Amino acid sequence: MSGHASDAPEARRSEQMKHCSHWIGGRPWDGAAERRGDIYNPATGQVTGTVDFASATVVGDAVAAAAKALPGWRSFSLAKRTSVLFAFREALNARRGEIAGLVSAEHGKVASDADGEVARGLEVVEFACGIGHLLKGGYSENVSTGVDAYSIRQPLGVVAGITPFNFPAMVPMWMFPIALACGNTFVLKPSEKDPSASLLLARLLAEAGLPDGVFNVVHGDKEAVDALLTHPDVRAVSFVGSTPIARYVYETGTSAGKRVQALGGAKNHMVVLPDADTDLAADAAVSAGFGSAGERCMAVSVLVAVGSAGDELVAKIADRVHGLRVGPGTDERSEMGPLVTGAHRDKVASYLDTGVKEGATLAVDGRMHPVIGGDADGFWLGPSVLDHVTPEMSCYRDEIFGPVLSVVRVPSYADAVRLVSENPYGNGVAIFTNDGGAARRFVSEVEVGMVGVNVPIPVPMAYYSFGGWKSSLFGDTHIYGTEGVHFYTRGKAVTSRWLDPSHGGVSLGFPVNK
Ligand code: NAD
Repeated sequence: MSGHASDAPEARRSEQMKHCSHWIGGRPWDGAAERRGDIYNPATGQVTGTVDFASATVVGDAVAAAAKALPGWRSFSLAKRTSVLFAFREALNARRGEIAGLVSAEHGKVASDADGEVARGLEVVEFACGIGHLLKGGYSENVSTGVDAYSIRQPLGVVAGITPFNFPAMVPMWMFPIALACGNTFVLKPSEKDPSASLLLARLLAEAGLPDGVFNVVHGDKEAVDALLTHPDVRAVSFVGSTPIARYVYETGTSAGKRVQALGGAKNHMVVLPDADTDLAADAAVSAGFGSAGERCMAVSVLVAVGSAGDELVAKIADRVHGLRVGPGTDERSEMGPLVTGAHRDKVASYLDTGVKEGATLAVDGRMHPVIGGDADGFWLGPSVLDHVTPEMSCYRDEIFGPVLSVVRVPSYADAVRLVSENPYGNGVAIFTNDGGAARRFVSEVEVGMVGVNVPIPVPMAYYSFGGWKSSLFGDTHIYGTEGVHFYTRGKAVTSRWLDPSHGGVSLGFPVNK
């Protein structure tokens, strides 16, 4: 009995520990991994499971499964492919709470935020359900006498997606619904920090009738990524993550002859002109700065106060920030959860001291913020505001990717535009003003890929495309929307003549239209 009693907590722990492995050829992988990583619950700081890391051989097996499934899936009619996507859409909608729960447990974001990311992923699935319309080519009759010309777009083959920790459900859904709809087969390498959502997505696709091998998941780190980037049967790679890795993925993938779109990090500015409604602007800055604990590539991380707007704005923001409820994602009253890992939390927090050393003012110190219902070992950091930040400071230059809002004060509109446009990142930007002329000019002038006018997080709808400029994207096409369809297909132009005796005769001249 006493032996049982002392073993019990350990036994309970191992019972509760989950184990995530790969999904290859329509079923869970049953091999023994040589390397594994830990999965954490950021709200408690405890390890809750392990995830297998794929070797190059395992990645090769996943690519082989995708290559084997390709001829069958490619030849599925558009109607049949679409019916699988419609069924997937239904399954996803029915289980969205479960997916959001997995995301919240491994990422730490609050449940409503996790549900929001599933909703935005669903929009891309719905867009992909219209692939019949999106894949229509052009047709020209009688381009030369008796000759017709038309264009078609065809799938690339096996394509891969490599995704970040901060949207473990949505970012994969920026990629695979469109890739599959276009007739490609897919290998996903999700973030090793929160791997569970991708496996549920794989199961739902299988339940929706997707043939085995069309969608595969391999977990892991650089070894798995490198294996995908150099595998000769992978035709294209979509990547979303930090800028240094995005650059590496783009350079490695393109030198291996692949088509690559690699979306990187961000430093998103919110410009507030003196005529703006400061209450609305303060609400927006707090929502966009601290939602998902600032771990969003479209989070506002720099507030640019133009002219006299600064003092009033900072006071209103500080007021709102103090009232935010920080706590575990499982408590539906929590507005902001923990950061993803202890190391990341410490790095984000270090910018507060560095910022002050470099001359900024710590207007709100998130280290003092109460955590309600949180475990002491959780990866907590409350919302913080650094005021009087200047462009030379590291808190301005670096992507912090956490709940730290830097406030830069500039004298004029022209200074604000210059600041934003000279920043090496160019993902998102917002302007808050009641002056339509100024807003219109800003939209036209600013060197950033996604712009919000009185909208702080301008994530494009599924039928537009998402992507930044400069160091926020390497490659020529943005992700999802019509550019996504373009990325996952290649064009073919056909010139066709049905034989007619009147067309006889030899001509060595270059074909010209008659
Ligand atoms: P990350 O770059 O560390 O990881 C992204 C992916 O790359 C993961 O799958 C990871 O396993 C893999 N990876 C990590 N190190 C690697 C290496 N040395 N070699 C090869 N592969 C490697 O990014 P993250 O921390 O998971 O996510 C946060 C970052 O993603 C932030 O910079 C954020 O701005 C960015 N992000 C950008 C967008 C966008 O649309 N532009 C969207 C979401 C997140």
